[in-house]
Amino acid sequence: MSDQHSFETLAIHAGQEADPLTGAVVPPIYQVSTYKQDGVGGLRGGYEYSRSANPTRTALEENLAALEGGVRGLAFASGLAAEDTLLRTLLAPGDHVVIPNDAYGGTFRLFAKVVSRWGVEWSVANTSSPDAVRAAIRPETKAVWVETPSNPLLGITDIAAVAGVAHEAGAKLVVDNTFASPYLQQPLSLGADVVVHSTTKYMGGHSDVVGGALITADTGLGEELAYHQNAMGAVAGPFDSWLTLRGIKTLAVRMDRHTANAERVVDLLVSHPKVTQVYYPGLPEHPLHEVAAKQMRAFGGMVSFRVAGGEEAAVEVCNRAKLFTLGESLGGVESLIEHPGRMTHASVAGSQLEVPADLVRASVGIESADDLLADLTQALG
Ligand SMILES: *Cc1c(COP(=O)(O)O)cnc(C)c1O
Repeated sequence: MSDQHSFETLAIHAGQEADPLTGAVVPPIYQVSTYKQDGVGGLRGGYEYSRSANPTRTALEENLAALEGGVRGLAFASGLAAEDTLLRTLLAPGDHVVIPNDAYGGTFRLFAKVVSRWGVEWSVANTSSPDAVRAAIRPETKAVWVETPSNPLLGITDIAAVAGVAHEAGAKLVVDNTFASPYLQQPLSLGADVVVHSTTKYMGGHSDVVGGALITADTGLGEELAYHQNAMGAVAGPFDSWLTLRGIKTLAVRMDRHTANAERVVDLLVSHPKVTQVYYPGLPEHPLHEVAAKQMRAFGGMVSFRVAGGEEAAVEVCNRAKLFTLGESLGGVESLIEHPGRMTHASVAGSQLEVPADLVRASVGIESADDLLADLTQALG
């Protein structure tokens, strides 16, 4: 599949040539651990053992690379498995990483509680400000980690500007592109070295699979990451790869609808008397709206807001919602609502990443927007 094709076409066809044996138009689920060799070392198509490579996973990995405009895609058992593999590829004891002051709680926990035990230093910066990133960089800094839009406050980082700051210091820029998906934003084209995904979210899109991905446009780094993927072993299984590929086929149409519905939800929230603040990069009053408009095709389906009356009022909104299902995760076709302080971001309590107690996060699904607005209206009371 040529890179010249547009995104929607690549999503459906990249990495998915008809099966050579049968012509099956969808890559089969190769539920297999090992492969017959034609004489010692005579591998068919390079397949030897399914931790090293599996045809269903290869199909997904080629698709991921095409969608992000990279040369190498790698699929993992979860987003955090992908992050762990990346960190242990890029970093050694004594190295330093700059991490954002607003990020997925599990990413923060991986740095603060796991990777730090191996002698890797980290410091927190407001990555929305390239100057703050520059100030946080040390001689030992090997990577700058960015999440944009960020979870849960929908903060925006100027990817091209921060790539410049990181590269000046000889550090790599990692962008967690989970909230945007490659349909809305392509960090490699803006100078990022590696893109991270929790494919559990928009890529899979149906709340039925946990997975992660790394994509790079650097052939050498791609080789190193693939070496560690095999050496560490946190690979995506064949069925999970297949489900993710199936989800990705509709990514473009889903993201368009997620965005359209989120814009309706934002319109309701900004004029609602019980809502004190709305976080959405599409709002002109968002401090980095212009940057978001420059680097994103549209603003996506995630919306956070603060509720008058504090933590209890925010928890009540979550409890009263009916069509918005109370639950963690995001990016599925069904709308979800949650209280970050007590749920997804409980692990950042007391840290520099602590989130407001009166915050509610909504993952706006692709149901009827009218039904979604009616549910939020009753939940806000
Ligand atoms: C969910 C999430 C992760 C972690 O991915 P898992 O698949 O849950 O391991 C990382 N980054 C962001 C932005 C996420 O939302």
